[in-house]
Amino acid sequence: SDSHFPIPISPDEVDLSQHYPRYFPAGEDEGRDGDAMAPRIRFADVGCGFGGLLVGLSTLFPDTLMIGMELRDKVTEYVKERILALRASNLGKYDNISIVRTNSMKYIPNYFRKAQLSKMFFLFPDPHFKEKNHRRRVISMTLLDEYAYVMEVGGIIYTITDVEELGEWMRSCLEKHPLFEAIPEEEIKEDPVVKLLSTATEEGQKVARNGGQTFQAIFRRISLQEE
Ligand code: SAM
Repeated sequence: SDSHFPIPISPDEVDLSQHYPRYFPAGEDEGRDGDAMAPRIRFADVGCGFGGLLVGLSTLFPDTLMIGMELRDKVTEYVKERILALRASNLGKYDNISIVRTNSMKYIPNYFRKAQLSKMFFLFPDPHFKEKNHRRRVISMTLLDEYAYVMEVGGIIYTITDVEELGEWMRSCLEKHPLFEAIPEEEIKEDPVVKLLSTATEEGQKVARNGGQTFQAIFRRISLQEE
């Protein structure tokens, strides 16, 4: 249960020096996320699994701090080791990625401030087919309110699945939500991140090996006049 992992009480309590030691050297007034000038986490990969997307994004955006959020303890430990090994064998690289064990459906606002994130990823999330389990889905109208809160205006939310019904569900939630707008196809084609959604993730690779179809919905966080 959740009691087995520590939850920061607010984004100020997230110890960035533990996650990104090269950006927050020990001793320099620790890595608490309170300093307005300090770099911030900008990308979140929610339900990151084995971390393939983070590894792919790390070199594509070498100056951007990003974090994976994963519920399973063993998987989280594996990704931690994977990142440490990559850092050790590629000095000066992979210092910008990290992972935290957490339940993203409960604790997103504990980790990120309003408008902090420029990208959020929901790649091949668990489908929860049964109607009564739809509330367990990582995309819902209520959770989109939270994601909109932590995303900056202009930020992009990427979703992909091989389950058609879930793909339709995620797209329809995003279409209904007043703070998100579909990104035009031409723009999606130009975005180097989109290719990674299926090529870099372990789940995407599995689907590709089996010749499966994927369904993606990529939306922009927009502003409302009232904001
Ligand atoms: N995104 C990865 C990929 O594409 O390879 C992993 C996909 S896997 C099917 C879904 C992952 O989401 C699992 O690793 C699962 O443990 C994680 N997960 C499910 N619910 C979660 C939650 N509430 N918070 C964080 N992670 C969660």
